[in-house]
Amino acid sequence: MGQGSLGAAFAAARQLLCQSRSIVLTTHIHPDGDGIGSALALWHYLRQQGKDVRIILHSSVPAPLRFLPGAEEIEQWKVAEHKAIVGTADVIVVVDTSELSRLGALAQSVANSPARKVVIDHHLSPQPFADVYVIDPTACATGELVWRFLRFLGGPYRQREIGIALYTAIMTDTGSFAYSNTSAAAHRTVAELVELGVDIPTVHDHVFHSWSLARMRLLGEVLAGMELYHGGRVCLLVVPREAFLRTGAVEEDIEGFAQYTLSVEGVQIGLLVVELPMEGGIKVSFRSRAGISVHELAAEFGGGGHEHAAGARISNGELPEVCQRLVERAAAYLRP
Ligand code: AMP
Ligand code: MN
Ligand code: MN
Repeated sequence: MGQGSLGAAFAAARQLLCQSRSIVLTTHIHPDGDGIGSALALWHYLRQQGKDVRIILHSSVPAPLRFLPGAEEIEQWKVAEHKAIVGTADVIVVVDTSELSRLGALAQSVANSPARKVVIDHHLSPQPFADVYVIDPTACATGELVWRFLRFLGGPYRQREIGIALYTAIMTDTGSFAYSNTSAAAHRTVAELVELGVDIPTVHDHVFHSWSLARMRLLGEVLAGMELYHGGRVCLLVVPREAFLRTGAVEEDIEGFAQYTLSVEGVQIGLLVVELPMEGGIKVSFRSRAGISVHELAAEFGGGGHEHAAGARISNGELPEVCQRLVERAAAYLRP
């Protein structure tokens, strides 16, 4: 989306928000720093504008993100409590996904709600369900887009709470400013955010160094089982259900595991395959190095995402068979 159409989308989103009284913010299941940081930044801003604004998510907030100012206000979906709120909101803002199905338990209520809907996102291939799409796949994170939107809206957006939320959004989605989406614009945005009073080592400690011992034991087991295929070009990491039970780790503990699939020299495509102990089904994370795209590979399995980081949920199939299919299909996307 070019700058021109993005400006039009900003203006349309502003109009909807200005006219509204009650606003619901939400993001995808298994929420990450970008989804939660983006929602919180908007929450702080809109609250100051006198809006009745709530953040309602399918999932609870992962422990490493609970330090974010305002995180304690985030509500986990309870049908009896939240269905009416989603159904009567003036505007629903969906951040960091443009797929209804990724809203989990909220999907149906959001789809049925007469509220006007705004999507703010940086993923490829949006689904048609909203009134306004603020989408830029070249943005390193939804948080970068939210910052541009707040600058467009003007007013008292230069707040420390917003800085921390959006810094976390961008830091997590760029892999601490290391992935290929780390643009000059990302660094410029972050420079502005840091000026709002973000304490960088504190954010880093919360997000990356506050794990449980159970999570570290799970990671150790999983890394010990790393396998390479297709002449070392595909790396497979598997987290079977039993590994969670053995170590006492929980689903959200796999956050960050996917990055290890590209740790070995020569690997072009990394696959992290997780048998979810609570939700059931299998979650796959796809990662790739420059020049290799995994977006279409993920789409073959019903998922999506970005060129170099994508995901899919597979609800039918046993773990070994799913792994075999993934490794087989990955071959089609490799370089010699
Ligand atoms: P993850 O591997 O969960 O870190 O996700 C990597 C990227 O793929 C993120 O940008 C996600 O938004 C996207 N993604 C993850 N899971 C899915 C899914 N089931 N369907 C579509 N996109 C996904
Ligand atoms: Mn995300
Ligand atoms: Mn994102």
